[in-house]
Amino acid sequence: MLESQINKLFSLPELKFTNRRNLTNHIIQFEAYKSSEFEVCPKCATKTTNIHDQVYVQRKDVPIRDKIVYLRIRKRRFRCQDCNSVFREPVPGIRKGFRSTQRFISHIRWCASYFIDLKRVTIKLRCSSWLVYKVFYEQLSLEAKKMNYEWPKTIGVDEYSFVRNTKTYYKEFATVFVDFNNNKVHEVTLERSFDNLMSSKSVDIKCRENVKNVVIDMSSTYKEFVNSHFPNTKITSDKFHVIKLFNHVLNKIHIETMKHPVFLKPRTNPMRRLYLTRDDRLSFLKDQLLNTLIVFSQSLKRFINLKRGCFQFTI
Ligand SMILES: [Zn+2]
Repeated sequence: MLESQINKLFSLPELKFTNRRNLTNHIIQFEAYKSSEFEVCPKCATKTTNIHDQVYVQRKDVPIRDKIVYLRIRKRRFRCQDCNSVFREPVPGIRKGFRSTQRFISHIRWCASYFIDLKRVTIKLRCSSWLVYKVFYEQLSLEAKKMNYEWPKTIGVDEYSFVRNTKTYYKEFATVFVDFNNNKVHEVTLERSFDNLMSSKSVDIKCRENVKNVVIDMSSTYKEFVNSHFPNTKITSDKFHVIKLFNHVLNKIHIETMKHPVFLKPRTNPMRRLYLTRDDRLSFLKDQLLNTLIVFSQSLKRFINLKRGCFQFTI
């Protein structure tokens, strides 16, 4: 087996494996050492090449075909040239103070999640129940921490369709709560009606009083939900949805205007795109053409003036 393949197997890229021995029928031992040119002192962060002595340590790894695997690692002890302290070289992939590799700890975590009880994990992996409990409850506390997060100051609420129902072929919508303070998704619920939202998990998240600003589309359901669930909130309509409604009406008026007999070939007439162009990108000639176009419709004229006002406001 190639050295790179062995390193990939053990997920310990900085170790060099030299030998493999069968200690008994059930125990395999691999010998390895680290060959870095220098190490950094953990106390004063100075580079040092001064080797004090060396020790051999034994670390447990993931079993191979029900055989226990030990790594016998030769570790050098360095003496810092600056603060004169002696330290062992660290090995990435093996946590300080642990007698097993990170890979083995991940394996315990996996077994603890899928086995019926933790005692079976200790029997299967032949490790102490202390280690199994420590690793498993560390993971549980992390999961619990994820569930206990609080509402931020500014959130956005919007609906997204992820999948289509296989029976009805209708789109299925989910409500997404976005944390605008940290630019990440805060919560996703698979409902979008008021009653379902009020009975979803998002209601259980703590500190709803923290929320000061909510950005929503102009949906009356979300407005009702936000008003009833977040007491100290100021609601803002999303700019994207406002402009979308505005453009929809503008497009309708424009299609009606282009039906005027003055315009030949209304579908391919280049004037039909002019009202969408920003004012600062219009040439003098195009600007004159647009002014001619709005003469034919008072509604279009009003909307284009309003749009110009909006752009001035947003810029
Ligand atoms: Zn030092």
